[in-house]
Amino acid sequence: MSGHDLAAGAVTQVTRVRNPISVAKHILLSNRYVMLAGLGADAYVDAMKLDTEDLSYFVTKAREAQLTAARLSGSFSLSEDNKFGTVGAVAVDINNNLAAGTSTGGMTNKDYGRVGDSPIIGSGTFADNRSCAVSATGHGEYFIRTTCASAIAARVRYLGETVHNAATHVVCGELMALGGMGGVIGITCQQSVTLNFNCTGMYRGVVTADGRMYSAIYEPYSGTWTEIL
Ligand code: ASP
Repeated sequence: MSGHDLAAGAVTQVTRVRNPISVAKHILLSNRYVMLAGLGADAYVDAMKLDTEDLSYFVTKAREAQLTAARLSGSFSLSEDNKFGTVGAVAVDINNNLAAGTSTGGMTNKDYGRVGDSPIIGSGTFADNRSCAVSATGHGEYFIRTTCASAIAARVRYLGETVHNAATHVVCGELMALGGMGGVIGITCQQSVTLNFNCTGMYRGVVTADGRMYSAIYEPYSGTWTEIL
């Protein structure tokens, strides 16, 4: 999603495209649709000649083992230790425009065409220059029910909260109260950042234009990234 014009693109239930996020960007730039799904999305991938792979390309031993374990136990989770696998990015560019992107394989052992929060604009992904850009990871049903990403943006925009305080309210307050686990990364046009989560850890990092970097997994985020770089 692009924060300066609210353009957005999303894709779900694709089976063969090599990089689903590139389909999402293609849809965003085509400016016709916002979200494509399933067989139609696979047909779009072919029509636009985006790179595809055989199904075997997407199978890894570790994920196969998680799926087998989840099937045996009948659980619906990314893994027994509750690690989520989404990759998200938020950015502010040299013109102070925001962007957010999120890509995921979803929850392990999902069925019935289940769709998580990641491709749902306003739930797992959102960007608006008037507030912030947000990308989420976690148990998607809760992020959908709380419209997590846009709820954070609304608090920044209408209540004037910092993005970190807004994320704390939604992720550690509303979402957690429902039983939802996970976290978000977020940034504003003023380069105020949040890296907030309500679970044991979240792989996360910040990189600046001049190459300063910060990364962490378990340490809680204080709310001021310049102090931790
Ligand atoms: N949010 C994703 C989903 O619910 C899972 C994840 O974050 O790994 O599909």
